[in-house]
Amino acid sequence: MSRIALLSEQVASQVAAGEVVERPASVVKELVENSIDAGARKIEVLIRRGGISSIRVVDDGSGMDRDDALLCLERHATSKIRTGEDLASIHTLGFRGEALPSIASVSRFRLATREAGALAGTEVIVNGGKIESVKDSGDAPGTQIEVRSLFYNLPARRKFLRTENTESSHVEHQLHLQAIGHPEIGFVFVNDERVVYQLPPTNHLRERIRDLCGAALAAELLEVPEFTADHICIRGFLGKAGVSRSSRAQQLVFLNGRAVENSTLNFALREGYHTALMKGQHPVTFLFIDMDPAAVDVNVHPAKREVRFRNSAEVRDAIVEATRRTLETDRAEWSATFRPTPPAEIFASPAPPIPETPALIPIHEQVALRHDWSTFPAPPPKTEPQPAPQAPEPALESTPSPANDFKILGVLGKLYVLMENASGLVLVDQHAAHERILFEEMLKRMESQGVPTQRLLLPLTLQVSPRDGDWITRHLEVLNQAGIGLEPFGAGTFKIDSLPTFLRGSEPAQLLREIIDDLRETSAQTSKLRLGEDMIAKTVCRHAVKANDFLREPELVRLIQDLLACDLPYCCPHGRPTMIQMSYSELEKKFGRKV
Ligand code: ADP
Ligand code: MG
Repeated sequence: MSRIALLSEQVASQVAAGEVVERPASVVKELVENSIDAGARKIEVLIRRGGISSIRVVDDGSGMDRDDALLCLERHATSKIRTGEDLASIHTLGFRGEALPSIASVSRFRLATREAGALAGTEVIVNGGKIESVKDSGDAPGTQIEVRSLFYNLPARRKFLRTENTESSHVEHQLHLQAIGHPEIGFVFVNDERVVYQLPPTNHLRERIRDLCGAALAAELLEVPEFTADHICIRGFLGKAGVSRSSRAQQLVFLNGRAVENSTLNFALREGYHTALMKGQHPVTFLFIDMDPAAVDVNVHPAKREVRFRNSAEVRDAIVEATRRTLETDRAEWSATFRPTPPAEIFASPAPPIPETPALIPIHEQVALRHDWSTFPAPPPKTEPQPAPQAPEPALESTPSPANDFKILGVLGKLYVLMENASGLVLVDQHAAHERILFEEMLKRMESQGVPTQRLLLPLTLQVSPRDGDWITRHLEVLNQAGIGLEPFGAGTFKIDSLPTFLRGSEPAQLLREIIDDLRETSAQTSKLRLGEDMIAKTVCRHAVKANDFLREPELVRLIQDLLACDLPYCCPHGRPTMIQMSYSELEKKFGRKV
């Protein structure tokens, strides 16, 4: 006896709905995407009781004629693609032709739509996938869809819904994504009769971000300088160095206008931020990637949130580079805030007396903050002759260069340097600042002179998994350049005979495992540098001046000057801030002089 039967359209739609419609937020996502695809200039979203009781999306887009209004409720009915080839190059947010029939099959559904210039519109009522009525309607041009009693006919699904508050916060997040992704469209969001926001259309993404996320967040963002590589165009805004969140909730990436998630993107951002991001934290991004739709596959998941890149290395490299360039744009701004104090005022106050108690580090080392390499490993014996370490600099000139005008007021708690600049008060963490200075100097030295290495007395052998072995074989050259002397030594085994001098005393096998894990996700071009950076970051912390070290005024001046000359002066190599600005207007607010 045959046991197979074709499912009815209605059941098939409910099955499909299981993939597309998970909760009210997914309904909102699909409906708003349809409105955007229909060319809407204004979209209103009204929900009741977290969207479980009702969701209404009203747009002023193209609308549909009566035939289309009926056809759009059929499964696999779409105006957006026609052939298999179209699927390889999708320009719209939708393309599956499944959302409307799926939503209509699990709710009480009303569609009212009208084309501009049409004499009348059409209203279609559907209950649980069954068309109940079709008639003329007199609504304004555009489309309105109302979804009531979601999952009323699928109790199992309904049970999975969370509280109304949770569901409405998911809806809000979904809308947040769409509103950021399309600033040129006006959005209105009404939750239980309360207007949550009314966003006017704008040509400026920064305005939309400010309207939606507040001025405080907008002030922490840097605009990505125009960047195009390999036909990948990157724009948008990124959080400044040191700005981060403990979740990815504010790490937004839009690919051709669609909010997407993809591990390549996450890794690329992390790599681009690199030392500007604290461990375990995530960046704040409003990043827009525009590229040939044929180079991405969005047909990975029914909710279309995931994407696959045809060439993920290209995308990754473009993001890393764009991020790096963006973070560096902040440098000029920072330096500028240290300019306007008139030089005459700078040393109006006498230098603090040298304390009676001995300083924690010898005076000659303090003076030579910038050029003291004596605490760092000697250069490798085999490479070209190195210049001898420079002698400590003679006493520093007491007037800072006019390019970096600032006035040092004192040191708080033996750690925070208090300074005055044109905008107000600046606090500098002397340890973090010195770490950043040493880090960049070491890095430049490594780039120009290579990594100092030391031969191991007894070479070690290292047994690795086939996957790690494969990685090592492919990156042997990079590892050797980075000072790790490694060669194949039979199946799955490698011999290590030298290590970077920085890493004296480390357990080589453990070290190498950590390095492989760290670098596996890094692109080939950057891994050599990255490896060196990681090693340096680990060592500089130990060598930088400590919180309690006493620095005399000339040393402080030199420290600040050196910091301002760094590529990324505002955070230490571990992503912690080196300086904090407290502006006059913040002070005035605190003292109640200004509201
Ligand atoms: P898809 O968006 O994948 O094409 P949908 O089921 O979401 O599938 O929508 C089916 C079709 O209905 C769309 O292709 C579009 O032609 C039409 N449609 C849906 N929503 C709207 C809208 N708000 N305005 C105009 N047309 C719409
Ligand atoms: Mg759609």
